Amino acid sequence: MEQTVGLYIHIPFCRSKCDYCDFYSLAGAGDQMDAYGRALLRQMDAMPTDLPADTVYVGGGTPSWYGPDRLCALLEGVFQRYRVTAEAEITVEANPDSVTAAGLRQLRRAGFNRLSLGMQSARDDELRSVGRPHDAAAVVRAVEAAREAGFDNLSLDLIYGLPGQDLARWRESVEAAAALAPEHLSCYGLQAEPGTPLYERRAALPDDDVQADLYLWAVRRLEQAGYRQYEISNFARPGRESRHNLRYWRGQPYLGFGPGAHSDFGGRRFSLPRDLEGYLRDAERGTFTLDEDEAVEAPERRREYLMLRLRLREGVERNEYETAFGMPFDPLEACFAAWRRQGLAAEENGRWHLTPEGFLLSNRLIGEILEE
Ligand code: SF4
Repeated sequence: MEQTVGLYIHIPFCRSKCDYCDFYSLAGAGDQMDAYGRALLRQMDAMPTDLPADTVYVGGGTPSWYGPDRLCALLEGVFQRYRVTAEAEITVEANPDSVTAAGLRQLRRAGFNRLSLGMQSARDDELRSVGRPHDAAAVVRAVEAAREAGFDNLSLDLIYGLPGQDLARWRESVEAAAALAPEHLSCYGLQAEPGTPLYERRAALPDDDVQADLYLWAVRRLEQAGYRQYEISNFARPGRESRHNLRYWRGQPYLGFGPGAHSDFGGRRFSLPRDLEGYLRDAERGTFTLDEDEAVEAPERRREYLMLRLRLREGVERNEYETAFGMPFDPLEACFAAWRRQGLAAEENGRWHLTPEGFLLSNRLIGEILEE
């Protein structure tokens, strides 16, 4: 069977920068948006096309700020260049302040069938504290408009560990998100990344113990509400896991478009510089500068397999590992068995995975298992 590919398209534009944001995105670069759409299509023409694609993900940045007309034209350009399968998952990210009912209907009609909405919190004071450009009421309006537009696959993003957040406040956000009945939820722990305003002003964030309590509480509550944790930070109703993100975690091929986007294709890994101006210049010339471009050899694939699969509830399995890497699974199984005694790992149908408590220590545990 012909192998399918996933397509990631990066939209590096935002209305304003959130205080914690470390993604490659620019505020106030609206005059570049039209040229950017043309540049993306030129990058597609400079890369392999005519491939069967079963996931398309337009992320950012804030795709909804880029606007429905440009997004629809972009998707049309994708349809002209790739064989997007009939059942493909086609996601667009949006912020609640930059969607309209008409715009969402337009996106749905054009073929987008999954909407990922940046909710982050149900409390206005928390949203303000990190410079989010919307309030909680806008989230509710956006969800209603998305449903009316026909989006039946909706994801909400939440952040835990916001400044001053305790369990009672976090519960408000989780309960509010669950009440909106999305098919999928992502919960990310806030990190103050160097160079961000949040880091520079040394904002007081909940300590690691509090963050761990918030995380574990959310895992239990969401499982109770019918969302299965299928990845460290991701929860879904059965069958509503993000198929595009699963590609990354399972080491399946994908192509990335736009500054900062990564690709893993044809045994090579490459990315483009985080530089919009340079990208637009490259598009004029028709050749694109790559930041890194390397063949991925077996030891690196093994490292990645372990790092990425241990983020997933589906975990790792003896035959799969031994066949892929020609190495014995026994030393790994010894690690898992020791972790199981500490409540950090579990075995289900022959597959070993970390428990939520194990996910909290995943960096350390993955480091340990990579030594084996
Ligand atoms: S909307 Fe998203 S990408 Fe844009 S600044 Fe905020 S966190 Fe970053």
